[in-house]
Amino acid sequence: MTPSQFNSFTEKNPLTALISFADLHHTGVIIVNKFSEYLDIEYVNDAFIYETNAHNESFKGQPLHFIYSAYTDKLTIVQLYEQIKNGDPTQAKVYIDCHNSDGYWCELSGHPIKNAANEVQYYLIHTTNITEYMHIHFTAELERVVYKYIEEETAFHTILEVICKKVEHYYFNKIHCAIFLTQNQKNLIAIGNTPEGYSSNLFVDKMTKQLNEHEALHSQYEKACPLNVNTYIPCHSNFCQEINVQGYSPIPLYNEHNDFLGLFYLFFKGQSQLYKNELSFIQIIAPVISFAYKYGEQQQTLRKLAYYDASLDIPNALYFTEQVKERVAEGKSGTFIIIQPGEYSHIVDFYSRSAGDQVLREIVSRLTQSAGEDAYFMGRLSTSAIIIASEESLKPLAHYETTMEHLSLIPYFIKDREVYITLKVGISRFGPGIDVDEGIRYADIGLSKARKENGTSFHVFEESPEDELRLAIDVLSQLTKAITLEQFTPHLQPKIDMTTGEISGFEALARWISPVLGSMSPAVFIPIAEDSGKIREIDQIILKKVLIWMRSRLTNGFKLYPVSVNVSPKHFYYHSFVEEFVGIVKEYEIDASLIIVEVTESAELVDFQKAKEVMTNLKRHGFECSIDDFGVGFSSLSYLQQLPFTEIKIDQSFINLIHNTSMSAVVQTIIHLANSLKMLAVAEGIESMEQYETLKSMGCHAGQGYYFYKPMPLHEVDTLLENI
Ligand code: C2E
Ligand code: MG
Ligand code: MG
Repeated sequence: MTPSQFNSFTEKNPLTALISFADLHHTGVIIVNKFSEYLDIEYVNDAFIYETNAHNESFKGQPLHFIYSAYTDKLTIVQLYEQIKNGDPTQAKVYIDCHNSDGYWCELSGHPIKNAANEVQYYLIHTTNITEYMHIHFTAELERVVYKYIEEETAFHTILEVICKKVEHYYFNKIHCAIFLTQNQKNLIAIGNTPEGYSSNLFVDKMTKQLNEHEALHSQYEKACPLNVNTYIPCHSNFCQEINVQGYSPIPLYNEHNDFLGLFYLFFKGQSQLYKNELSFIQIIAPVISFAYKYGEQQQTLRKLAYYDASLDIPNALYFTEQVKERVAEGKSGTFIIIQPGEYSHIVDFYSRSAGDQVLREIVSRLTQSAGEDAYFMGRLSTSAIIIASEESLKPLAHYETTMEHLSLIPYFIKDREVYITLKVGISRFGPGIDVDEGIRYADIGLSKARKENGTSFHVFEESPEDELRLAIDVLSQLTKAITLEQFTPHLQPKIDMTTGEISGFEALARWISPVLGSMSPAVFIPIAEDSGKIREIDQIILKKVLIWMRSRLTNGFKLYPVSVNVSPKHFYYHSFVEEFVGIVKEYEIDASLIIVEVTESAELVDFQKAKEVMTNLKRHGFECSIDDFGVGFSSLSYLQQLPFTEIKIDQSFINLIHNTSMSAVVQTIIHLANSLKMLAVAEGIESMEQYETLKSMGCHAGQGYYFYKPMPLHEVDTLLENI
C-alpha cells in the first residue's frame, strides 16, 4: 500500500482504520496524535506490548517520550519532534527500556496520516528492534578506532582507556568500565579507566582487596579458568559505595591461544545492571581488547628493540635509565659505574667504528664473567661508554681497581693486533632521594675527571658537581692571565741511576701558585689547559724557565744534567711544534742532547706515521724522546719498537703493585723489552726501599720517586747539586 492509497483508506475514520491496520502487523506499531501537546500515544499494537514486556494499557494516553529511555540521545529526540511538527516522515534510533527485561535499540519510522481536512493528525510509527545492527555497528566502529590508534602508534594504555570510554558511552554511562591485566598470572595491573578521583594504583589495591573478599571469584581468577560471562556480583562494600556502584561483572579476556590475559570489568552504577543480551554483547567486545593487548605486546617488543643496543646486546641509555628509575622506585639503591676505554675514539679513527664496538663488547663480556652473584644491570650510555647500575653499595676505590685490572691488563685483539687499553671510570651513587638522571650526571662528571688522568683511572663523584665545575671554570678564567704573567715555574725531580744511586738527570714538573686560586696541582690545571688549547704556552714557559736556569748554571761554571720536559700530546702534534721547540732551545744556546722530550704514552700516539715524523724530526735536531706513563696507554709492544724513543718511563701504577706477582711479571717484560730495544727503562714513583730493590734486581736502569727525592724548586736543586 502506497502512502497516498493509505491516506484515502483512513480518511473517513482515520484512527479506527489505523488501529485495524496496526493490528495486522507482527512488528510493533505505535499510533500518536499530532494534535496533542505531548504527542500522546493513541494506540500500541500487541507486538509492541510483547516486545517491551509491558502491560496492555500502560501506554494509552502517555506522551511519546514515555516509550524510550531517558538515555536516548537528546539530539535524536529534538529532530524527531521537529519532523513530526512539520508533518514530515520520521526516522529515529532510540533505546527502549523494557519492563523487567533487556532493553533494546529500536528504529522508529513514522508516517504522517492526514484527516479529511487534509491535515496531518496522526503518526503511524513502525518500531524495529535494531539491537543487533547497533551492536555490529558499534563493534565495527570500535575496531576502526582501535586500528586507527594502533596506526598512529598510540600508547597501549590510551587505547584501552578509549575502549572503556566508548563502551561506557554506548551504555549511556550507566556503567563504568575498567580493564585489569595479569602480570605473571598473579598480580593485577589496572589499565583503562579508573573511576574519577582514583589513581590506577589505588584502584588496583582496592580491586585486589575486592577480589580477595570474593574468594570464589578469586580462586577462579587464580586458576585462570573461564568465569561465567553473566556473573553479576552484587557489592555492598565501602569501596563500591565510594564509587557508587551496586555490583560488577568481570569478563575474562583471552588471547588467541586461549591464555588468560585479565579481566574486563563492568561496574554497575545506581540500580541499573545490564541484561543478558548486553553482557553477551560485551563478550563480543572482549576480542577487541585482546587484539589491542596483542598489539600492546608487539609494541613492547618493538619498544625493546628500540631500547636495546643491537651491537652490544645490552639496553641503550634510555631503557637503562627507565629500568633504574623503576628499581629506585622499588626502594633499591647502589652505585653507577661508567666505563669508557680511554682510547675509544682513536680505535675508531685508526681501525673502524666496529672495532670500537668490538672493544666495548669484550668489556661487557669480561664484566659479565667477573660479576658473579652481584646484582647489576648494564647499559650503553653513549657510543663510547658502558654504564653499570650495581646494587652493591659504594666500595673503597681499591675494589674497583681490582675489577678494572681484570678488564685492562689482558690485551684486546683488534684485527689480529694486540692492543692494551686504559679504562676511564666514573662512579656515583643511586637510590631513593637521588634523582637518577642527576646520579648519572655525577658519574659522568667523575668520568670526565678520570679522563684527565693518565692510565686507568677512577673517580667517585659524590660531592656537589657544581663545586668541581666552578673550580674548572675558575681555573680556566685565570689561565690566560697566568700565561701572560708567566706564573708557572718548573720544579725538578731528580732521576736516579739505579746501579750507582747517583743523580743522572731531572724531570721538570710545572707548578702554579695563582694569586687568586692559590697553589694548583698540575693534575687539575694541565687537563684544563689541554682542553682549552693553552697547554702549548705552558709547556713553553716551563721549557724557557728550565733553559734560563741551565744557562745560568753554565755561565756560573756548574755542571749540567739532562732535563726531561713534559710535552702534552696535544702540543706534540701541533703543526709547528718542532720548529718552535728547536727555536727556543737555540735561543738559550743549550745543547739539544741535554733536553729530553717526555710525551705521555697516549691514544694520540696511535697516529703512528705522524708520531714517527715528529720524533724523527726532533732526533734530527739532536733531541731524545721519552715515552711517559708507559703501560697504561694505548701500548702495543710491537708498535713501540718502530718509534725512535730512547727511554721508557714505567707508570707509577705498575710500581705501586710490583709486589703482586702478575704485575711484577709485566714490569719485568717491559724492562726486557726496553733492553732489547736499547731503550732506557725508568721506573716512576718509587716510594719504598722494597720497590727500589725489586726494580734494581730486575735490571731497571733508572728511577724517580719520593723514596729518593720529591720535585723541588730550582734553588733547592742548586743546593742539592752543590752538596754532592
Ligand atoms: P708525570 O710526567 O708522569 O710526572 C710524574 C708525577 O708523579 C708528578 O706529579 C710527580 O710529582 C709525581 N711523583 C713523582 N714521584 C712520586 C712518588 O714517589 N709518589 C707519588 N705519589 N707521586 C710521585 P705532578 O707534578 O703532580 O704532575 C702530574 C702530571 O702532570 C705529570 O705526570 C705530567 O703528565 C703533567 N705535567 C706536569 N708538568 C707538566 C708540564 O710542564 N707540561 C705538561 N704537558 N704536563 C705536565
Ligand atoms: Mg713526565
Ligand atoms: Mg709519568
